[in-house]
Amino acid sequence: MKYPNSLIQLIRELSRLPGVGPKGAQRLAFHLFKIPHEDVESLAEAITTAKALLKPCPICSNITDEEVCAVCSDLERDPYLICVVESPNDIIAIEKAGGFMGRYHVTHGVYSPMDGVGPERLGLDKLLARLQRDVRTGEVLDPSRFEVVVATSMTTEGEATASLVHHQVSALGATVSRLAYGLPNGAALEYMDEVTLGRAFNGRQRI
Ligand SMILES: [Zn+2]
Repeated sequence: MKYPNSLIQLIRELSRLPGVGPKGAQRLAFHLFKIPHEDVESLAEAITTAKALLKPCPICSNITDEEVCAVCSDLERDPYLICVVESPNDIIAIEKAGGFMGRYHVTHGVYSPMDGVGPERLGLDKLLARLQRDVRTGEVLDPSRFEVVVATSMTTEGEATASLVHHQVSALGATVSRLAYGLPNGAALEYMDEVTLGRAFNGRQRI
């Protein structure tokens, strides 16, 4: 038996979503078929509303439905401390952990010239501009007052992104630091990969 065309179309669209394979798409499509019409409508409405309202923050590229994101509009935060992350999800994780009171810059990806992702796609021009001039007041700033913490992932591309940020930001005179990756809680040393272990050694602290 062949699926009806509309169902094939729905499965095809759903399987294009990240983390949803063909099997998952099939399951979701049948689920949508079973639930009440109103539930499907409110889901569709939530998707279109979010898509219409959400946009990148003009200052840090975090996702927001306000003029400026919640972090950038929080005046209690240290304006001279900027953490570079790959995605808005990373901001949620860092905020949950607590303790970081600076601001962010979201690259929405990693540096990968082979895939056509250069510095401009990562919004680095925006980051460099922030170190030189207050976006809102227009006041000229001294880049050497800034510390940029690079919190990109521990992958080859994440490391390449970190060194690109380091290169561009330090050229302006700002301090650049990289997160010291430690060992995961409850982890046994013998199972650690060498990159994690090497990082943990480099980031060791006096106790
Ligand atoms: Zn922002």
